[in-house]
Amino acid sequence: MNEQASGPTLDEIVALCKRRGFIFPSSEIYGGVGSTYDYGHYGVLLKNNVKNEWWRAMLTDRDDIVAIDSAIIQNPRVWEASGHLEGFSDPLVQCLGKCKKRWRLDHLQEAIAAEGGDPDGEIRCPQCGGELSEPREFNLMFKTHVGPVAESGAEVYLRPETAQGIFINFKNVLSFSRKKPPFGIAQIGKSFRNEITPGNFIFRTREFEQMEMEFFCTPDDASKWHEHWLGERMRWYTELGIRPDNLILRPHEADELSHYSSATSDIEYLFPMGYSELEGIANRGNFDLTQHMKHSGEKLEYFDQATGDRYIPHVIEPAAGVDRATLAFLVDAYEVEEVDGRERTVLRLHPKLAPVKVAVMPLVNKDGMPERAREVFESLRHRIGAEYDSGGSIGKRYRRQDEIGTPWGITIDGDTAVDDTVTLRDRDSLTQERVPIDGLAELLLEKLAADWTSPKLDA
Ligand code: ATP
Repeated sequence: MNEQASGPTLDEIVALCKRRGFIFPSSEIYGGVGSTYDYGHYGVLLKNNVKNEWWRAMLTDRDDIVAIDSAIIQNPRVWEASGHLEGFSDPLVQCLGKCKKRWRLDHLQEAIAAEGGDPDGEIRCPQCGGELSEPREFNLMFKTHVGPVAESGAEVYLRPETAQGIFINFKNVLSFSRKKPPFGIAQIGKSFRNEITPGNFIFRTREFEQMEMEFFCTPDDASKWHEHWLGERMRWYTELGIRPDNLILRPHEADELSHYSSATSDIEYLFPMGYSELEGIANRGNFDLTQHMKHSGEKLEYFDQATGDRYIPHVIEPAAGVDRATLAFLVDAYEVEEVDGRERTVLRLHPKLAPVKVAVMPLVNKDGMPERAREVFESLRHRIGAEYDSGGSIGKRYRRQDEIGTPWGITIDGDTAVDDTVTLRDRDSLTQERVPIDGLAELLLEKLAADWTSPKLDA
């Protein structure tokens, strides 16, 4: 956490997200509700693209993983079995001095250790220097009630992770999917944690989306698959444009490992506040299936008919956050540069992640240009994510599209009526070329499918 990021500040990212309609503070007209955010139009498109790319890597590109979408509210015994009721807590300390601020003791200790100090020595409030309270374990699960009367209804929890919804469906999936280990079950969905110290924009919120996959294999193969998934997940981020220099794979120290895990590595990204977890990839052994077997009485084993072996599969879990990944893609893509003496802010998002792939713009709002531009837009919109943009000067429109990361811009001008060509502008190289309208969708689809490297990598 001690390395300094040289990219944009979090404030710059927050400002761009608000200005361009990616992400807003939630319930703003009522004064907000701490660390909760709403995604606007471009934010939804970007986040959907992140999720689609994850599904592509998990499902479309392989045939050993199936999907699931489990409920947010599950039988409370699930959380008894998983250990969340007992142990899903963080050590909370509160400032007894002036500011009364709450802190996570483990975070304070990490920061002290990173600076070479003694994490077990006396710690004072980083804000006002006040004395801190004794640590108190604080369960992170949100509790609610099923049924109209709180007192008589069953107490339930909003799920704090999507993973358990996968384990409790292991038997269902085995019986319908005709898969046998090694195979995986993948899920994307909302999770909820009553975090003590939410913050850093969408990095740590109380309501967030996760992308988790549980990969079931024989005990002997678990280490091999753990290595495999470390490589695959690092590749996913870099192929989608994250600069490799900004990513590290950090193996957990022995005293950091969860009790069930024999090995965990975090993929950390150099966020504006320093290196922080983007995704965790754990070897969970057979802890979860064993626990659910004990608590439910159901057999959650695999019987290999070929060998006659019966065993509880071991599990490798790559667990990522949609919002954290989205933030990393935004931070990595953000750049301010000078073009012809003017400042330009540009999001160099991988074209596959860009909310809009192509903006269709009449140069001026007359001489039949808007009508022809509209026709071009209609011919593209069902084949590639297109936006019709006729508002304001062309310079202003380019600035807007650059800031939402649109990789290509098409302008319709006076010559279009003469030779049926348009100008195609590239967001990154700023080159402009004349191309025929005929075949435009194919050309853009080809560009979208081509390999893409951030121009910053060449710099
Ligand atoms: P942290 O140590 O940052 O609290 P964690 O180790 O508890 O995270 P996991 O339980 O491994 O996180 O969850 C998997 C992923 O889910 C994380 O790597 C992160 O991307 C995402 N995630 C977890 N908690 C949050 C949160 N409060 N807000 C946003 N994303 C989160």
